[in-house]
Amino acid sequence: MNLDHLNKEQQKAATHIEGPLLILAGAGSGKTATMTHRIAYLIEQGISPYSILAVTFTNKAAGEMRERVEKLVGPCPNMWIMTFHAMSLRILREHYYAAGYDKNFVVYDTVDQKTIIKNIIKEQNIDSKQFPQAYLSAIISKEKEADSDPEQFLEMNGENPKTKVIYNVYKEYQRQLKANNAMDFDDLLVNALHVLRENPNILAQYQNRFKYIMVDEYQDTNHIQYEIIRMMAKAHKNLCVVGDDDQCIYQWRGADIRNILDFEKDFPTAKVIKLEQNYRSCGNILAAAHSVIKNNRGRKAKKLWTEAEAGAPIVYKRCDSDKEEAYYVAQEIDLLSGGRSYDDFAVLYRTNAQSRLFEDALKRRHIPYQILSGFSFYERKETKDMICYMRLVVNPSDDLAVKRIINEPKRGIGPTTLGKLEALAKVNNRSLFETLSQEEVIYSLPAKASASVKEMMDVMQLCQQEKDNLRVSDIYDNLLVKTGYLKALEDENTVESESRIENLLDFKSFIYDFEEEKAATGEKATMEEFLERVATDSDTDKYDDEAGKVTLMTMHSAKGLEFPIVFMPGMEDGLFPGHRALDSENGIEEERRLCYVGMTRAKEKLFLTSAAYRVLYGHGDYTRESTFLRELDKSLLDEAGDSIYEPSRRTNNRLGVSTGSLDGYSETPAFRPYNYDPLKFAKQAVKESAAGNSEDFMQGDQVTHGKFGHGIVVDTDAKTVTVVFDEGGIKKLAKGIAPLKKV
Ligand code: ATP
Ligand code: MG
Repeated sequence: MNLDHLNKEQQKAATHIEGPLLILAGAGSGKTATMTHRIAYLIEQGISPYSILAVTFTNKAAGEMRERVEKLVGPCPNMWIMTFHAMSLRILREHYYAAGYDKNFVVYDTVDQKTIIKNIIKEQNIDSKQFPQAYLSAIISKEKEADSDPEQFLEMNGENPKTKVIYNVYKEYQRQLKANNAMDFDDLLVNALHVLRENPNILAQYQNRFKYIMVDEYQDTNHIQYEIIRMMAKAHKNLCVVGDDDQCIYQWRGADIRNILDFEKDFPTAKVIKLEQNYRSCGNILAAAHSVIKNNRGRKAKKLWTEAEAGAPIVYKRCDSDKEEAYYVAQEIDLLSGGRSYDDFAVLYRTNAQSRLFEDALKRRHIPYQILSGFSFYERKETKDMICYMRLVVNPSDDLAVKRIINEPKRGIGPTTLGKLEALAKVNNRSLFETLSQEEVIYSLPAKASASVKEMMDVMQLCQQEKDNLRVSDIYDNLLVKTGYLKALEDENTVESESRIENLLDFKSFIYDFEEEKAATGEKATMEEFLERVATDSDTDKYDDEAGKVTLMTMHSAKGLEFPIVFMPGMEDGLFPGHRALDSENGIEEERRLCYVGMTRAKEKLFLTSAAYRVLYGHGDYTRESTFLRELDKSLLDEAGDSIYEPSRRTNNRLGVSTGSLDGYSETPAFRPYNYDPLKFAKQAVKESAAGNSEDFMQGDQVTHGKFGHGIVVDTDAKTVTVVFDEGGIKKLAKGIAPLKKV
């Protein structure tokens, strides 16, 4: 393999094979790139991809790393490149019994978590002013990060009225998760750790398999992640960790910076490689970032250098208000966008609450943007409802999902009826789904409810039974149409319901993408895996670097990414650094690292802005400029704010010579044929696909199937068709749902 394009130190790291290795280096020095090359190099040296495990911080980073490796050495389907959570999920799927779960356990997200905790607050008559749900959720999560169960929590904190309440909630929460055959996000790590720790044979299996383990962004590993990795690498010690102590930004979520600082203590034979050349940013950006981060005391001193030119000065603009700030940013993007793609721009803010004004300002200028906000796609009501339907297809014990969808769309099941059903389920020690599967229960419901619940149960059972014979997208279409969900929205016929339909169809494209991605690796796309993807996706995973859109995201989500032009708005004390951080040295240092992460995302130009007056969470106030601005080396700064363009570019843009239009605004939207209504077409397609077949089949009919291809009917009865497929063997398929067509 030709590694000539790497520098000497990078080459050393990439070709280091046996023994522990620490790559400790600053932002943009090629850590991730080196790790990628190292994987390719190992494979080229004859090491099986099967024995390689690489852990990244997001699913997206994992996908990119795999793509790059495979470009260098060819396809490696059985190599594990994934996040900690995805890895834990894999381990738990392989050893669910050791974790005490059923095979088809599901993963609950923060919305589910919220619902359960709120219910518990009600059930246990807890004062929600004194113990708000958010507070209880946060404590439970913290305890799990520290691998501490309810009993340990009580033991550590002593018994008093307050800890007793928390203990009871925590305990009941875990009981309910278990009863629903579900884990929350934190449980994935905790349970994986316990399975490995308590089952030496299982641990040995992974130790034997993964002879080469690598972890990117190691500075942000928490206690449990550290333990998992340490145990897996214990036998062979071929562990390579990559990171930058200056970029540890998740201490608030349990990340422990000591994991990277103490690596040499844990692995005394570790080789340490430092990378000092930065390949990402212009000189001024690098110097500015350094002038801020050097104020942190608890850090390993390192300085980066670059061969790149100094570049444009950093622009700082103090605006009168937050609205003006957003206007200014949108205007700058407009002016600079000539001859550039909007992909080049990112607005990185401290909190999601800042995003709305930027959205407004960009919309006004018709600048396309993508927003990666905490309120994700999956948390929208309609998407969430459909996810619950899908979850029930794989895991009928999921009571929370039943409760969520039983009356969505309206089926005449009010809280009283639901309460009765729950009580009945409890008495018989059955799940809600099982309870509803009994005919006598359905018939005992009020007449209207009885018919519509029966219909829903039929669809659900059919989907459960056929799930392995259908594509994920087919199941989705069936659920959407046959449960009456789509129709209810259509009947509503409001702007809001229309936009919900759009979102549901948008979600379908997401399913398609997933299926395509799987097909590309030659794997089968299963519903189980799809749900896992949904559960483990982070904000950053939705980032599309070729969308032709400006990206809006938090600085936290921008970790590991790079953009030619970066805006960091809201440089104000109280916002950034945040007001809570202002009280403690540790807090300030973590915010300063975040500032460093934000600034070092920029390749060519960096804009910092602040607003003299800001409204946040409904409260308006005058602000003070950020501590970080005061630390910044003033000689690198252009405070004039709007004098930074090369006049030529500005003229170009204004004259419409470049891709911008005459007034510097964005291009006209893509051409669409007259009368083209994409929503209508998409709806139609969903319905057609869900219609399955109403044809009658006879022995000897030639058919095609959406998933299995061509085949011949060999048997039929009232409910099923049996087909011998050219490639898929013999399948017995349910009439009315199987995507079969005569040819
Ligand atoms: P971060 O700390 O932000 O995660 P990093 O250290 O992982 O950054 P990379 O993202 O791997 O850095 O690399 C930063 C940029 O530098 C990328 O665009 C990468 O392609 C480029 N780069 C890395 N090494 C070299 C090299 N030897 N020659 C040229 N470009 C390089
Ligand atoms: Mg990186």
